[in-house]
Amino acid sequence: MAPNISIPTGVLHEHDEEVVAKAIPPEVVKPSDRKLKLVWRNIIIFAYLHTVAVYGIYLMFACAKIATSIYAIILYQLGSLGVTAGAHRLWSHRSYKANVPLRIILTVFNTMAYENSVIEWSRDHRVHHKFSETDADPHNAKRGFFFSHVGWLLCRKHPDVKNKGKGIDMSDLYEDPILAFQDRYYMILMPIACFILPTLAPMYLWNETFVNAFCINIFRYILTLHATWLVNSAAHLYGHKPYDRYINPSENLTVSLLALGEGWHNYHHTFPWDYKTSELGKYSVNLSAAFIDFFANIGWAYDLKTVSQDMVKKRVLRTGDGTHEIWGWDDKDQPKEDYKDALITHRKS
Ligand SMILES: [Zn+2]
Ligand SMILES: [Zn+2]
Repeated sequence: MAPNISIPTGVLHEHDEEVVAKAIPPEVVKPSDRKLKLVWRNIIIFAYLHTVAVYGIYLMFACAKIATSIYAIILYQLGSLGVTAGAHRLWSHRSYKANVPLRIILTVFNTMAYENSVIEWSRDHRVHHKFSETDADPHNAKRGFFFSHVGWLLCRKHPDVKNKGKGIDMSDLYEDPILAFQDRYYMILMPIACFILPTLAPMYLWNETFVNAFCINIFRYILTLHATWLVNSAAHLYGHKPYDRYINPSENLTVSLLALGEGWHNYHHTFPWDYKTSELGKYSVNLSAAFIDFFANIGWAYDLKTVSQDMVKKRVLRTGDGTHEIWGWDDKDQPKEDYKDALITHRKS
């Protein structure tokens, strides 16, 4: 995820020009040596949001109506789909195509998640893939867990992020009128979709109190953020690398569960154009793939791109770390006992 999470446009992208102007040439500064310039406004906002979110968890168990909690979990899933199936797989990577109604649905979901407009998010994400684990990577995991998780949103961006970002072609997304509309009116649409309507709905539909509705919605928002952030942090640091052992992104089950299938990150960075972002795409750990497949079945999603088994196999043998699961019969790693114990039915002619 990954989905990379960008974040609150107004909150996070100010003063970048100033950073560029004062920048020390990146080639003489190792990531660990660079002095971070903290953005205290963001630190205070995130501290406030997290405090409210923790109180929201308490209210869920203490006095809120059960419908409010169920509703928050559903919104978390829908908002996440707007990031994973929308900003990430559809728009950043163009791994499938979607008709207008589905693009509108995904844009609404995406706005509920408040991770910046799709265009802004996708620019950061394309830079993340092209310059992964370098200073130009907005959430460079070489700087450690905290930085790649949330720290990158609490300080000024490295000048390389901005400079390299300018070289990324985003014309395909600007040409989509739905995305251009979302980007243009984001600071009006986002507060309505992420905060106002999600708070009002429980109050008017099942008489929830304002405090309960507000705090639990903030918890829902923070949960979506952390699920996405884990893709940038945990899935870049912990897990096996069956597809490419030379890169940091790893296969991480926990992240896949929380981020609706985005934790199969070694595969994703190896084959970023696969709409499943994983080899097998089991729905239990890849809700986003189930969502896309459902819409493919009714014809709203089409041109789904995926990687052939043969291509995956060749890559695993060439660059994998040896942790890939057994391919099937006659896989070179298949245990010898299988040959003895397997039940093989020979049809008699
Ligand atoms: Zn990606
Ligand atoms: Zn990544």
